[in-house]
Amino acid sequence: MPKVLIAGGGLAGLASAAALGGSGFEVHVFEARPFLGGRATSYPVPASPEEPAETIDNCQHVLLRCCVNLLDFYGRLGVRRHIHFHREFYFIEPGGRVSVLRRGPLPAPFHFTGSFLRLSFLDKWDKLAIARALLALRREHARRADLDRITMLEWLHEKRQTPRAIGRFWRPVLVSAINEDLDRMAACHGFQVFWLGFLARSDSYEMGVPVVPLAELYSAGAWERLGQVHVHFRSPVERMGPEGFTVDGRLETADHYICALPFERLPAAALPAPPFEHSPITGVHLWFDREITTLPHATLLDRTMQWMFNKNGGRYLQLVVSASRELTGRSRGEIIDLALADLAAFFPAVNEARLLKAHVVKEQRATFSAAPKTESLRPASGTGVPQPFLAGDWTRSGWPATMEGAVRSGYLAAEAVARAAGRPTRFLLPDLE
Ligand SMILES: Cc1cc2nc3c(=O)[nH]c(=O)nc-3n(C[C@H](O)[C@H](O)[C@H](O)COP(=O)(O)OP(=O)(O)OC[C@H]3O[C@@H](n4cnc5c(N)ncnc54)[C@H](O)[C@@H]3O)c2cc1C
Repeated sequence: MPKVLIAGGGLAGLASAAALGGSGFEVHVFEARPFLGGRATSYPVPASPEEPAETIDNCQHVLLRCCVNLLDFYGRLGVRRHIHFHREFYFIEPGGRVSVLRRGPLPAPFHFTGSFLRLSFLDKWDKLAIARALLALRREHARRADLDRITMLEWLHEKRQTPRAIGRFWRPVLVSAINEDLDRMAACHGFQVFWLGFLARSDSYEMGVPVVPLAELYSAGAWERLGQVHVHFRSPVERMGPEGFTVDGRLETADHYICALPFERLPAAALPAPPFEHSPITGVHLWFDREITTLPHATLLDRTMQWMFNKNGGRYLQLVVSASRELTGRSRGEIIDLALADLAAFFPAVNEARLLKAHVVKEQRATFSAAPKTESLRPASGTGVPQPFLAGDWTRSGWPATMEGAVRSGYLAAEAVARAAGRPTRFLLPDLE
């Protein structure tokens, strides 16, 4: 049984482990922390002395049905039933008016036509501009060579989008999907989100939300079904070299190695980090004494808080701000006050409710910034000189830094290992087209 060592128990490393463990390899995952999942995980937060600690996600993570490799990974772990799909996207304006985007009877790419025309937060000129841009996007997505060099905002201006179409449609969808502002995001990423998520197939936009804490998706039971996968917690890899991984001062050796660490954690001597910047995400968890809303989730228009997720009967809400640089310097108390003021603009019940508990998670290194001209700097997933093979959402997986991107990179690294072991195997599933 060929032996493989993997550094990092985030989604990239776990995807490699699941693929190889299910294909007759002996796999050892070395994870620095006492839990799996890396940036997509959950942990208990301290409660008051009367209450037990509550397990919360570091931040709400969602996927779209077009994340075919992530869904395949959940399938390997036997946890796909814990992802519930939503067919409605709710947009809410200050004042509380709600619009719903859902697919209708027409085939893709016209499946949103009916609900799009009914959106109340855009006027007819905004909608005409968006329709024109979506047609242009369909025409240009496979043809234009400059999409990694220009920003999404430049492209939107080129397509003469109205300020409201940009602020209320393009920005809310893309900033949360790519975790970058429109004026800092390479247009190729915006194209990919709309092409795969909204235009390619009529169901690819459906939003998957885990209904268990994220860490439960990768629990010990899930690994038992995958053969020889051994997870070593609290085991940071201290050094990497052709002779093996150094863990706890000991040299661990194997036939093959995968490095699935974030780029800022690469051992500099062995693997130089690419010159990427980070883009932050802030999550705000709020527990109220009463129901604030019955909506399962909503895009919050025209405010700092961008998304609301209803985690428990409208009393526990999670708010998300992607590309949250403007919150970096603010204190926890200031962010909670801002979140409450924003929320009250949409849900008047907040004014009457008592806030029982609040928790703010600022992830300063949430993802790399998907800026123009960075795509070519991402090393191809699954390459190594000659090893360790690389995985991680920052490698060139064909997707932006997302859970799907991380899993794709893990599968590509697993394919490289399988090839090197003389057992070529396809793990990566093609994108929906
Ligand atoms: C707040 C937030 C919200 C997000 N929301 C979404 C979302 O809604 N949808 C989506 O698709 N994506 C989302 N993402 C992005 C997604 O979480 C990441 O792209 C993905 O989880 C990255 O996985 P990874 O395996 O590449 O890296 P990581 O998750 O960073 O995994 C790397 C692992 O390596 C470990 N490690 C570090 N150093 C060592 C060492 N020396 N030895 C051993 N182990 C080590 C770390 O502890 C970690 O577990 C979000 C990210 C954040 C932070």
